Amino acid sequence: MSFDYDLFAIGAGSGGVRAGRMAAGAGARVAIAEERYLGGTCVNVGCVPKKLLVYASHVREDIRQAAGFGWSAADPSFSWSAFVANKNREIARLNKVYAKLLDAAGVEHLEGTTRLAAPHQVRIGERTVSARHVLVATGSRPRIPDIPGADLGITSDDAFFLDALPQHIVIVGGGYIGVEFAGIFRGLGAEVTLTYRGELFLRGFDRDLREALRDEMTAQGIHLRFQTDVTSLTRAASGRIRVQFDRDDSSEADQVLFAIGRVPNSADLGLEALGVKLDALGAVVVNPYSQSTLPWLHAIGDVTNRMNLTPVAIAEAMALVQTLFNRTPTAPNYENIPSAVFSQPPIATVGLTENQARDRFAKVRVYRSRFRPMKQNLGGGTEQTVMKLVVNHADDRVVGVHMIGTDAAEIVQGFAVALQCGATKAQFDATVGIHPTSAEEFVTMRQAVEEA
Ligand code: NDP
Repeated sequence: MSFDYDLFAIGAGSGGVRAGRMAAGAGARVAIAEERYLGGTCVNVGCVPKKLLVYASHVREDIRQAAGFGWSAADPSFSWSAFVANKNREIARLNKVYAKLLDAAGVEHLEGTTRLAAPHQVRIGERTVSARHVLVATGSRPRIPDIPGADLGITSDDAFFLDALPQHIVIVGGGYIGVEFAGIFRGLGAEVTLTYRGELFLRGFDRDLREALRDEMTAQGIHLRFQTDVTSLTRAASGRIRVQFDRDDSSEADQVLFAIGRVPNSADLGLEALGVKLDALGAVVVNPYSQSTLPWLHAIGDVTNRMNLTPVAIAEAMALVQTLFNRTPTAPNYENIPSAVFSQPPIATVGLTENQARDRFAKVRVYRSRFRPMKQNLGGGTEQTVMKLVVNHADDRVVGVHMIGTDAAEIVQGFAVALQCGATKAQFDATVGIHPTSAEEFVTMRQAVEEA
């Protein structure tokens, strides 16, 4: 059979673009279709603008500490509209970079809504084209809770484009997005209330880090309400939003941000009609090689709801191209994937938490260091850094590296390589530190604080 394309990718986000470029590089005829914006969630309403907002919001604390270093900064003020305009310009630049990358790789870029029409057949606008392989890389979108008045709330998609900085924002959800936006809006000067249904946010992260972040956010004046659900939103007489909690109390806010997870973008693609299996959440069910229940249809990234991180979608894309176009069947490796929460201070982690290690190994050693970083001493800050190593006693391998503190993400990225190589605690000890840094603590912790 002859096809118009060897690969047709639906969705030009992190995963789709990488798969398209790599496949074209391997000699495949590739088209990629996108209905919204090049670069997907990460570039447009995710990682990139979020990080810019984190930078913006941290300037306030930097200015506050400047006096300790001899600087006087007169009456700083923040313009939300100036930030949003600059951010939009930067994102538009990145959209163009993505277009150029696709062009340079020889990938045909199509704009429009795409549907699967029949096996190997894709309809985009009025056109129907055929492809040997079709890749679904359509990502995910924020989940909206099923409560009265939910339409009065916003999601992270909207938070980047607000007309004004809210005076008071209620954030619902204790995951990555909730915690990150709480720090952002607080740093920019808003009153922030974060509600989480469980007893402590960031479930799945090491408990020491979660507790440390709770303490830091409380010290910053963020109202943390754990074991609390929002039951309804109504428009108050003041024009603000009345947020009803399940504890028989309520609050008024200018904005309510739902950050309660994301749902795969799998509807309206024609997947089910063709017999593609979706799970209960709507994620495309795939095998370890990202192949769906139809041999010619593949899926990567958030739409498969495996590990919803940009670098993982990229790794899945590269593995898929190896499998389909380089005759090297490759399954992505999900072990030791580092990740960071860009809270303030940030959290970064790779490997097992202390509890996970205790469940898996007979005896575990834990090394922990808690200190006030050097910069805070002159700056007058109180922020604490916590660093932690988890070691499997039987073979001395470091199985978990965890940090909360300035530059945590930059630091832990390097240690993720060590974990990937199976480094032992003895090898950490044999590594010379860089002085003076926080990072050197990871190679100078000698005394286990807990063994069991
Ligand atoms: P998360 O899955 O990280 O967190 C969702 C939060 O909402 C959890 O606290 C969860 O509670 C809570 N929740 C879930 N359902 C409900 C509900 N019905 N009512 C009330 N609370 C609820 O999702 P996010 O939206 O924060 O982020 C989505 C994903 O995007 C992340 O999981 C991550 O994969 C990715 N991301 C990564 C970032 C990074 O790498 N820095 C940054 C931002 C996003 P519980 O814990 O009890 O289930």
